[in-house]
Amino acid sequence: MNRNEALSVLKNNPEVSVLIIGGGINGIGAFRDLALNGVDVLLVEKGDFCSGASAASSHMAHGGIRYLENGEFCLVREAVRERNRLLQNAPHLVKPLPTTIPIFKHFSGLLNAPLKFFGLLNKPSERGSLVIKLGLMMYDAYTGRKRAVPRHQFLSRKRSLDRWNQLNPQIANTATYYDGAILHPERLALELILDAESENPNAHALNYVSMVGGSDDTIIVRDELTDEAYDVRPKLVINAAGPWIDFANRKLGLSTRFIGGTKGSHLVIKHDGLRNAIGDNEFFFENKDGRIVLIFPLYDCVLIGTSDIRVEHPDEAHCTEEEIDYFLEMTDRVFPGLKLTRENIVFQISGVRPLPHSSAKSTSQISRDHSIEVLGGDWTNLRFPVYSLVGGKWTSYRALAEQVTDKALAHLGLARKKDTHALPIGGGRGYPPDLTEIRRQIESLSAWTGVTRERLKLLFERYGTRAEAIATFMNGGTDFVLRSLPGYSRREVMFLIQHEKICHLDDFVLRRSMLAMLGRLTREMIDELAGIFGNALGWNAEQKEAEVARTLSILADRHGVRL
Ligand SMILES: Cc1cc2nc3c(=O)[nH]c(=O)nc-3n(C[C@H](O)[C@H](O)[C@H](O)COP(=O)(O)OP(=O)(O)OC[C@H]3O[C@@H](n4cnc5c(N)ncnc54)[C@H](O)[C@@H]3O)c2cc1C
Repeated sequence: MNRNEALSVLKNNPEVSVLIIGGGINGIGAFRDLALNGVDVLLVEKGDFCSGASAASSHMAHGGIRYLENGEFCLVREAVRERNRLLQNAPHLVKPLPTTIPIFKHFSGLLNAPLKFFGLLNKPSERGSLVIKLGLMMYDAYTGRKRAVPRHQFLSRKRSLDRWNQLNPQIANTATYYDGAILHPERLALELILDAESENPNAHALNYVSMVGGSDDTIIVRDELTDEAYDVRPKLVINAAGPWIDFANRKLGLSTRFIGGTKGSHLVIKHDGLRNAIGDNEFFFENKDGRIVLIFPLYDCVLIGTSDIRVEHPDEAHCTEEEIDYFLEMTDRVFPGLKLTRENIVFQISGVRPLPHSSAKSTSQISRDHSIEVLGGDWTNLRFPVYSLVGGKWTSYRALAEQVTDKALAHLGLARKKDTHALPIGGGRGYPPDLTEIRRQIESLSAWTGVTRERLKLLFERYGTRAEAIATFMNGGTDFVLRSLPGYSRREVMFLIQHEKICHLDDFVLRRSMLAMLGRLTREMIDELAGIFGNALGWNAEQKEAEVARTLSILADRHGVRL
């Protein structure tokens, strides 16, 4: 069912069991689990899917080793388990990530955990080898007997410098442990939606539809593309608006203060020297003041982040000049010979973590755990309960979705029929166990679709086993590679337009592909893509122009990309 059909179903029948507000990873996770369990569920997202906090993450599927110091053992155990599940269920987009900590001191930070426990440490301080060793031993223990990833390893100063020859020679040693890299989070989120809708014909996810108000038994949503308003009469509402949760509750007449968001920014850097220096390793380390910095291999680029700064309104989040200076200086501390400059920045992104409201003295002490806040009963003006999903991490979205689905099923008087523990996601379904098998599949696909091996390799990297459906579609008509973008063909883009809920040109360049994030866009490319999108979506010349202008302005204002 396409967007218009889903909206007309809603117009004719506003009754729905569950309405989810917000199409970030937490709303999407709940949507998939409810759909899988046969619930009629509607998700509305005011922008594109996965365009809020979920688009601004550090791309790590991780247990959060540093939360051990805050004593959050249950959180780390759950997140490590979920990291392992992501590696198993989405092997096309989540890959094991060796993570290296360059360590400058041996004994520093020994008192961090006890001081934090007694509330005597207001700001983090640098940790030395001994503290890191203890943390990594615990972290390994949580990985469990199945060992989804190898154990940590310490390397001496000499061996570290032999291996990473651009590393600061002042290091004492390095420690390497494993987490997961979510290479394209926006795609993973979209595939969860597509899986859910194909499983349940009464599950609909609509982007560019906002929740604008509600009272009694009705919620009003507005189609942002046409301005038309629709009534929804749910039995239950899940507020998954992330950092906007309190704003969304206010629209429903509920005065809450669940969220105390912190802003985090990242830069994407194109610098071959740095990319070669880190190899396939993420470098995860601390500034002298204990703030965490990561240097992460993202395809042929490097992602650098992140900050953790309290903000009042999530719409205000943008990457400041100060943050940029900080990231560039920090990289210099670990790789002093490489000298990054602003010229190397190809993309910037900022987002707000939907953390629980807290009076903690330092932002690093605010819990990264998640909770479900239930509002309902006599003191609201609503006839249905509202569950707000507070906090959480990309990594543990499935666990939070499971918890809220169990609660929702209980409210609806339904029993759970299926769970998502080992359920493959999108192109992770039937994903080959090794490179030999991938090559064999590409070979056989090439033979019967006529698509070249080189192109199929690209499709496999982007879409996992969904490459088969895309190659079949490409084979169904005349196809050619794009003039300005030879990595894509016209029919591949057409497939995405038809099957991946694209409404605006920026949905494609920012979220269905990595083109913007990896600094690959050109003005010519935007114009060529606008032509293809215009033909497919019926835009006239004026609309095409407006789409180009919209994309250019989002790229410039939010991502520092000027074309
Ligand atoms: C800088 C940064 C780095 C991070 N790094 C990591 C990491 O490496 N690993 C990890 O596991 N986690 C990480 N996280 C945490 C993780 O990204 C977030 O916890 C998670 O994405 C939150 O998802 P969400 O669905 O709750 O919120 P969001 O993704 O923000 O989704 C909420 C959605 O609700 C929509 N919405 C708001 N109001 C309305 C309305 N009225 N009607 C309709 N829709 C509405 C918004 O448009 C938004 O898309 C990071 C977060 C940040 C900000």
